[in-house]
Amino acid sequence: MHRFIVSPDNIQNDKITLEGDDLKHLRQVLRLKPGDTIHVFDGSGVEYEAVIFSLEKFRAIAEIKAVFQAETEPQTRVTLFQGLPKGEKMDLIIQKSVELGVHRINPVITNRTVVKLNESDSKKKTERWSRIAREAAKQCRRAYVPEVTEPITFDEALRKAEPFGAALLLYENEAKKCLKETLKCYNINKIRDIALFVGPEGGFAHQEVEDCANLGYDIVSLGKRILRVETATISVLSIIMYEMGEINL
Ligand code: SAH
Repeated sequence: MHRFIVSPDNIQNDKITLEGDDLKHLRQVLRLKPGDTIHVFDGSGVEYEAVIFSLEKFRAIAEIKAVFQAETEPQTRVTLFQGLPKGEKMDLIIQKSVELGVHRINPVITNRTVVKLNESDSKKKTERWSRIAREAAKQCRRAYVPEVTEPITFDEALRKAEPFGAALLLYENEAKKCLKETLKCYNINKIRDIALFVGPEGGFAHQEVEDCANLGYDIVSLGKRILRVETATISVLSIIMYEMGEINL
């Protein structure tokens, strides 16, 4: 099935307007015609089945035939607070996290983050990351596009994590809790909103871990080997989704 993401403004009553790159793709690559069926989502979790109704020079109109609540959304909403790594690593982390069902991504400038971003770099990067999230959502058939925010400070991250039912911090040294047991507890207590903190290459500073421990975060380890940032994030998201019962056939 051919899938398109459009802005909610392009969906009105029972009609969807496709324009710009979507129109080009529809016409020149897919060579679709009036009468063909497409699937459209607006990024908020709703998916539409629609039939192309008219194809004009600057827009195509499709008529909505059915509305679905996407089945690809996990009930566990994990917000990733990712210590900003160097180079292109964040691109990979975003793509894989979206495939694995992350709800939202906040890049975090921690004590040991080495990347320096001025305001315009930060804006450009965020646009790029949002595009990657969107493409990944489309490819893996999510109807919800996780938001990627601009990089925030560690203190802001702590503030944002306050309302969450639970907060997990991955720490390679002296973990205080077992991940499996921790997730079992979340399950029993029906915790659905999890804040997940993963450090940058240099790891979290001792004080940052201390602050989180004082706030009642669950400080957990992923075993005795030190994983690269991207491996840590991808693994922990897989483990969370598995243990929270989100990987059901
Ligand atoms: N500072 C460390 C490595 C940091 S790895 C060093 O260089 O020795 C980057 C991040 O991945 C860490 O901050 C942590 O959040 C996560 N991570 C890597 N391996 C881990 C492990 N075995 N257990 C828990 N977290 C891990």
